[in-house]
Amino acid sequence: MPDVVPAAAQPLSAPQKALRKLGLVRDIDRALHLPLRYEDETRITRLRDARDGDVVQIEGEVTHQEVGFRPRRQLLVTLDDGSDTCVLRFFNFYPSQQKQMAVGNRIRARGELRGGFAGLSMMHPTVRAAGSALPSALTPVYPTVAQLPQPYLRKAVLAGLAQADLSATIPEPILDEIGHLRAWDLRQALAFLHRPAPEVALAELEDHSHPAWQRLKAEELLAQQLSQLQARRARERLRAPVLRAAPGGLADRLLAALPFQLTGAQRRVGEEIAHDLGATQPMHRLLQGDVGSGKTVVAALAACTAIDAGWQCALMAPTEILAEQHFAKLVEWLEPLLAPLGQRVAWLTGGQKKKARAEMLTLIESGEAALVVGTHAVIQAQVRFARLGLAIIDEQHRFGVAQRLALRQKMSDLLPLPLAGEGRGEGRGRATADASGPHPGPPPAGEGVNAEPHLLMMSATPIPRTLAMSYYADLDVSTLDELPPGRTPVVTKLAAAHRRGEVIERIRAQIAQGRQVYWVCPLIEESEALDLRNATETHADLSQALPGRMIGLLHSRMPPAEKKAVMALFTAGDMPVLVSTTVIEVGVDVPNASLMVIEHAERFGLSQLHQLRGRVGRGAAASACVLLYETPEGGRLGETARARLKAMIETSDGFEIARRDLEIRGPGEFLGARQSGAALLRFADLAEDGALLQWARHAAPRMLRDYPQWADKHVARWLGAKSDYLKA
Ligand code: ADP
Ligand code: MG
Repeated sequence: MPDVVPAAAQPLSAPQKALRKLGLVRDIDRALHLPLRYEDETRITRLRDARDGDVVQIEGEVTHQEVGFRPRRQLLVTLDDGSDTCVLRFFNFYPSQQKQMAVGNRIRARGELRGGFAGLSMMHPTVRAAGSALPSALTPVYPTVAQLPQPYLRKAVLAGLAQADLSATIPEPILDEIGHLRAWDLRQALAFLHRPAPEVALAELEDHSHPAWQRLKAEELLAQQLSQLQARRARERLRAPVLRAAPGGLADRLLAALPFQLTGAQRRVGEEIAHDLGATQPMHRLLQGDVGSGKTVVAALAACTAIDAGWQCALMAPTEILAEQHFAKLVEWLEPLLAPLGQRVAWLTGGQKKKARAEMLTLIESGEAALVVGTHAVIQAQVRFARLGLAIIDEQHRFGVAQRLALRQKMSDLLPLPLAGEGRGEGRGRATADASGPHPGPPPAGEGVNAEPHLLMMSATPIPRTLAMSYYADLDVSTLDELPPGRTPVVTKLAAAHRRGEVIERIRAQIAQGRQVYWVCPLIEESEALDLRNATETHADLSQALPGRMIGLLHSRMPPAEKKAVMALFTAGDMPVLVSTTVIEVGVDVPNASLMVIEHAERFGLSQLHQLRGRVGRGAAASACVLLYETPEGGRLGETARARLKAMIETSDGFEIARRDLEIRGPGEFLGARQSGAALLRFADLAEDGALLQWARHAAPRMLRDYPQWADKHVARWLGAKSDYLKA
């Protein structure tokens, strides 16, 4: 890419650094950085013609200047334009401004005009010297950061626009279905949006309904669909070990040992996964199922299949607590079956003692650890699998994009060439026999065929259909749409914070019946700004209110060993109440817990609330979730907070929750793009641009087939370095 800013040849200035931070590296990136809104500086309004509240640009002579002190220090400048006078008011000002606005100077000021009995005034207008020619286009205002002033950014964008290659990347026939957007090719659309003529309706520009915007959105969606499709094709060229369960093998034995029958949904999803595992291409499947739908056992069965076929399986969870819990459960389920085969379940985490870790690494490298459970420590560089066949990521949306990328990278390192049965696993007895014995192995992998383990991702945050279509074109999705039988729905109640006392009575009643209770707080330390009641304080309150009961405390700053001890007491049922921060948000499974209290519920995100609520209602006991909320002093809850709490009361269906969450937050945030810093779709809005998305979905495969070079160019233009993120 010739138009990249040279890497660190000389130190970058602050605005240059800021440009980089915004991802505005190539000319095309800058050309695609579009205005948030526009200011009309194309005309001068006479004071006599302006109305109170108008944002106007006025020009005239300074007739008076003074520094006033009431009610506070301020600079007052009187401007006379011949039709009327207006006082410009500045609470912050510099000597240079006083000089610029000296009596007798002609200036141009832009701001909101206020009328009043003392005459017209403007607060903090933008001021420049009069006389320069008026711009002929609306002035764009770009999204920016502190170190990057608008004028600098404007220049950078216009330079990018002038230099970028904007030649067509969408062939004519592909444009058929959106023929009405032909009139605006990329070059025209960008030229227009960066410098719109003053007579255009600002509303059309600002709500992105203008055809120039539509064209950009169409191009963006097409790029995204193409890149997903390319990722899928690339994956189809990869090879993976063929994993099939042996009849009467581990999976069957696990099923026989479980205290329950699989639900119909678990069986169906299990078959979908088994089908993928038996193929020669790596699986890339998302298993989505609402909280409590029983994903863990599906994962365990997939692991059994991999182990049966003579390969290792890794299971990764986003938090130590969750990984720990999976480890305990999988040891319970699988070690009795693995031990006779001389195999084990290994445990890997960041907080582990050196010696324990070294032991685990040896087990993994030798292949004795058939299953490895842990946090993201599982994908760290020192970890060497003997033969990893399947990687499972639980609550995958909780991993950052960067971690997901690292995993995929690591996965391709894990399974070096060649993959044919004879190449690997020699001398590994059972493994070799199974891999090349009863089942046909993958076609002999010649040079140049890359291999990867199968990948199963799990998530309790279901992706709404439109999002799935758009973002996860490179993903097969299985859905657990049925809860195990015998669950009673969780009753959700709202309560204002002053009803804490009643809630504590309720806790007393629950624990008298032998049930357990979670109490979740948003922060662990008092913060002056937020004045939240913190977990430690609540813990002290509850300990006092419920004397003689063991009240646990869990938060993310505790040492891992302590967390583990607390969690163990709660899981065993010895601790009736657990006060915690959101560290228990995902995956934690204690079926005896029947009451969830969430303090400051108005501060939590919707999917977070739903996840937390999912910690109860896992057994047969009637369960409840109490959302304690606090209104700001003298005010009401904010709009979005109310929408979230309302959704929680009205539905417990994870899909409906996800749909509303999307509505409240918008897709960028929904996918956690904010954390990664890489907004996935900048212009298109999946909720509104369904028709364009449909077009892009149809156009992408055709374009890839008939115009592959155009497709490459289009993706590179739009996504540049970001296309990696899309594949993660
Ligand atoms: P999640 O999908 O939220 O990860 P889990 O896998 O933790 O759900 O399962 C929730 C609970 O339901 C666990 O206690 C699990 O043992 C139990 N469970 C899973 N499948 C079934 C089933 N088919 N019948 C009864 N209980 C089940
Ligand atoms: Mg789970």
